[in-house]
Amino acid sequence: MAEVEVRKLVRKARVGESNLDVNALRRMFSRGEIWQLTRVGLVGLVAAFVLLVISGQLKTMAGELVAIWIVDGYLLGHMMLLRRRYKPVFLAGAAVGLVLGNLMGDETFYVASSFTAAGIVETCAAALLLPEVKSAKELLQPKVFVRFLLSACVVASMLSGVVAVILLQGIFTTHPFSSFSNWVISDALGFLIFTPVTLVMLSGEWRTLLQPGNRITSASLLALIGVVATVIFSSTTYDDLYWMLPPLALLAFRAEFSTVLLGTLIFITVSVPLTIHGTGPLWLFPFATMQDRILALQLFTVAALSIVLPITVLQTQRNSLLSALADGQRRFRNLAERSEEVLMELSADGTFQYVSPRASVVLGYESGMLLGRSVLDLVHPDDRNELAAVLAQAWKIDVEESAQYRFRRADETHIWVRSFISAMPSGIPGGLMALAFAVRDVDAAVVAEQTRLTEERHLRDMAFIDSLTGLRNRRYLDSKVEELLSSSVHATSARPVAVLFTDIDYFKNFNDEYGHQAGDECLKAVGQCIATTLRKRDLLARYGGEEFVIVLENCEHAEAATTAEHIRAAVESLGLGHRGSPLRVVTLSIGVAQGEMRGPSDAAELFELADSALYIAKRMGRNRVGRVQDTIEAGKSASSGS
Ligand code: GH3
Ligand code: MG
Ligand code: MG
Repeated sequence: MAEVEVRKLVRKARVGESNLDVNALRRMFSRGEIWQLTRVGLVGLVAAFVLLVISGQLKTMAGELVAIWIVDGYLLGHMMLLRRRYKPVFLAGAAVGLVLGNLMGDETFYVASSFTAAGIVETCAAALLLPEVKSAKELLQPKVFVRFLLSACVVASMLSGVVAVILLQGIFTTHPFSSFSNWVISDALGFLIFTPVTLVMLSGEWRTLLQPGNRITSASLLALIGVVATVIFSSTTYDDLYWMLPPLALLAFRAEFSTVLLGTLIFITVSVPLTIHGTGPLWLFPFATMQDRILALQLFTVAALSIVLPITVLQTQRNSLLSALADGQRRFRNLAERSEEVLMELSADGTFQYVSPRASVVLGYESGMLLGRSVLDLVHPDDRNELAAVLAQAWKIDVEESAQYRFRRADETHIWVRSFISAMPSGIPGGLMALAFAVRDVDAAVVAEQTRLTEERHLRDMAFIDSLTGLRNRRYLDSKVEELLSSSVHATSARPVAVLFTDIDYFKNFNDEYGHQAGDECLKAVGQCIATTLRKRDLLARYGGEEFVIVLENCEHAEAATTAEHIRAAVESLGLGHRGSPLRVVTLSIGVAQGEMRGPSDAAELFELADSALYIAKRMGRNRVGRVQDTIEAGKSASSGS
């Protein structure tokens, strides 16, 4: 084989079809490779020889066919595991071993060669028809197994039977059809049992026999098979052959494939020699020849295997599905347990169907405690409606929803959580849909954000509040006027606004008379008094010193003047004593300006007008309301007076 490849390579190199790979040639002729080829050939030779001798022990006399032909089943199994280029060497070695074994059994060279030819043709045919299989487990996949049955047990065995009957006419002691049937069944049984056995032994799958979990069951079942087979096949009184089936079927249901094969081997090892040596139920039937009795035993074994093997095939498939399922579940559980989030499944009525163990850490509930409870019952009443709406939305497939809400923990406290929710179609046809529901603890982040916002708001408020009176300050007034202006830009029609400037009369004197502390108290009292006369939406600010400014939105001139008068009268009627004032009580002078505030220039103008009006009020004797008209009139009288 190696030489042929070398010659091919050299020829290709000569005609320029390929570059001669010197390394490939070296590798092919390397000592290691030659030793490997020799070893494979020798293994084939020795194994075929030994198994032929063992199979030969299953005969009662020369020229008879054996009940089960081990050799080809083994050769096929071993060939499957070999690399392609070792296969011919292995078969050649096996052929030599078979010829030698047959010659040892006192066959002529022609008979030995014919037996060998039939065997090698059979093994080659089976190997060519079978798909690539490297273990008994792969062989047991239903489709592969059916192909194995057809190619090895039917086609190859029959082909071999035809070759044998043609080459060995007159050698067999029985009728050619009987010999053919014996041959085919014997070879088919050999493939059926010894190809998987060889795969199990050579691929290392036999180790499953030693697995701690299986050991006791397997050993008990195998012992049962051995005992039942021995009892049945050593008796010659009762026809109790079919009692062999229940333990074999039990084995198929309960044991791994390797154990099933071992059980079948035990059955054969007990039944065949005992039958050949004159005991067992088959001696209760009047068979014409020993060959016919062996044929009956073969047919029984085929029947038994046709029960046992399909069960084993299905059981193996079921076991691998179950272990894949268990593996998937284990992987999911591991992921779920390690996840930061609590993973849940909600049924259509919103109750928990599955809760991952993480719930005990995040929510304080052991996962079993939540099963069957409604999620909405565990949500803060203020957040319930919002979550219910999100859940309803999530039932629509392909929409992932999220919601932030407060979840009630087992200790009755609430924590902020965020949930990602999506609908999961059921894996089972016709099964109900469920919601995948993940719960992430965001309490620390939400609380921190809320604190930050509160502090921010507090700081902002502090910056806008006058510390003495507790009223808004001038900065606040400025920002509000800006807001007012920006909203006026978008407004379709301009809104009338009034500005009231107030100033306490003779306040310097008040301080002088009563002291600065009392002055402060007076400022507070006046501020509060003005505030109580105003509506909630009116804007009041301490503008500075003893001056207060009031901005009245949507206010016509008459209403502004009335409001100013109310304020003035309210402060006067407070009756705060003021020795430094000719009026003897604390009073206010107020300047009123009214107009439309569309832009910054309008605002500045209104403030200036109000200030001027205040000035006029002071000029006109204080404790009064001054208006723009008064300003104009005052201007006129001033100019006529000059
Ligand atoms: P007029 O009637 O013209 O307004 O006379 P007036 O004395 O009130 O005159 P002016 O407005 O100039 O005086 C304001 C005084 O208010 C000056 C200052 O001593 C006093 N003042 C300003 N801020 C404060 C304050 O926060 N507390 C106290 N107690 N007095 C203040
Ligand atoms: Mg003043
Ligand atoms: Mg004053």
